[in-house]
Amino acid sequence: MRNIEHFIGGQTVVGTSGRHSDVFDPNSGKVQAKVSLANAAELDRAVRNAAEAQPAWAAVNPQRRARVMFEFVRLLNAHKQELAELLASEHGKVVSDAHGDVLRGLEVIEFACGIPHLQKGEYTQGAGPRIDVYSAHQPLGVVAGVTPFNFPAMIPMWMFGPAIATGNAFILKPSERDPSVPVRLAELMIEAGLPPGILNVVHGDKEIVDAIVAHPTIKAVSFVGSSDVAQSVYAAGAAHGKRVQCMGGAKNHGIVLPDADLDQVVADLMGAAYGSAGERCMALPVVVPVGEATADALRAKLLPAIAALQVGVSSNPDAHYGPVVSAAHKARIEGYIQLGVDEGAELVVDGRGLKVPGHEGGFFLAPTLFDHVKPTMKTYQDEIFGPVLQIVRAHSFEEALQLPSRHQYGNGVSIFTRSGDAAREFADRVEVGMVGINVPIPVPVAYHSFGGWKRSGFADLNQYGMDGVRFYTRTKTVTQRWPKGGEAVEQSFVIPTL
Ligand code: NAD
Repeated sequence: MRNIEHFIGGQTVVGTSGRHSDVFDPNSGKVQAKVSLANAAELDRAVRNAAEAQPAWAAVNPQRRARVMFEFVRLLNAHKQELAELLASEHGKVVSDAHGDVLRGLEVIEFACGIPHLQKGEYTQGAGPRIDVYSAHQPLGVVAGVTPFNFPAMIPMWMFGPAIATGNAFILKPSERDPSVPVRLAELMIEAGLPPGILNVVHGDKEIVDAIVAHPTIKAVSFVGSSDVAQSVYAAGAAHGKRVQCMGGAKNHGIVLPDADLDQVVADLMGAAYGSAGERCMALPVVVPVGEATADALRAKLLPAIAALQVGVSSNPDAHYGPVVSAAHKARIEGYIQLGVDEGAELVVDGRGLKVPGHEGGFFLAPTLFDHVKPTMKTYQDEIFGPVLQIVRAHSFEEALQLPSRHQYGNGVSIFTRSGDAAREFADRVEVGMVGINVPIPVPVAYHSFGGWKRSGFADLNQYGMDGVRFYTRTKTVTQRWPKGGEAVEQSFVIPTL
């Protein structure tokens, strides 16, 4: 059985805690590897190593740090097929979609290539008599990131791209469910010229996350995962005096106004609701048609589109999506489907019971569709994170606007319409962090930033973009005076004003 080990100080470090976790192949349902789970002592060794390496890296001039990022971009492109296949084999998403996981991360690294400009400070000459002021954005030191299973390439790169480019050393604690790609990324960073100790991968579970949050040398923690954990990491990190950003779960709505192009909406919904088996925090698991006529027409067009979807193993180029990540997650989704029935929603298409020939043990679920879902239902309020689409019928624009606005989550939302006026009002008033207008999955490009509202994001600064640069740096402002000499010496007991 293959063992997946930590990557510390530029080399593989075999775990010593004696604790392991199974890594499954979701296509077969079988265990394919074991990953070492670190304890606090192993984390401490990695942090000490990182702390030793960091000052020299921070002293490297920014264009040389950028050159490592440029080379990493080249290596990512050269290895993208290998990375996508490895990713798909542990996550279960289809290889074409795994490419997107790698490439959306790569875009953040491309952004980080601009670090000489992005990290530049400010200077004011003559802020007072012979007084100049400058501000510098200095790295924090050793920082850490904890990432979820659903984007094992992109989300680590959201974090370590800006963190390393700005001169920090990074401890990555990836999901223990698909840990191989993060290690491979760290190996490629070393190949790109990163000094050992600046990017370290320490595997583990809650035990190691608690140790990261409490470790006195770690100055900042970035977390992406489910909301309860995000909130507790946010609170504990702040209590330990750290800078923290924690992105949580989601339940994104797609609002369909009566004037929308329904064929386009249905095409968009297939990918946004069922792509990656619904295991995306920017998926669209709720569709809100406005008016009964829109709802009936949408439902009629959804049915043949759903029937045409193909579920298969992640290496099958014809499959639209693959298995979900684990047996436990599959059982949880099936539990929600049953709950939807028990709550009184109409189960229009039941995705339970799918067997993919030759892969009977795989964690597959066919697409599920519910209609007449009500906001009071638990299946509406909770994140299901599976290939389940729920129709919630609204009677007016205002009712449709209030549904995502009042929901506990506020990650993404989309509106489908031909009316610029309606779209503009919706985007302005909706209480959600990322809005799509005729765009089903509005994940911002790398030079904007990613972050949800309410229980989807416990953070002052978003992921990547300029927020990422700010999160991993702190501002030092220097006020300097160089007297000419020979001037009268004055004493003052009032705060100086200019
Ligand atoms: P998860 O919360 O189970 O795990 C996330 C990370 O936290 C993992 O590294 C895991 O090892 C660790 N962890 C798990 N339980 C913990 C605990 N009790 N204490 C401390 N650490 C713990 O999430 P997941 O199942 O890996 O990922 C899916 C979730 O992530 C979904 O809720 C999804 O919406 C969310 N997500 C959010 C975003 C976003 O940017 N908002 C992006 C991707 C995924």
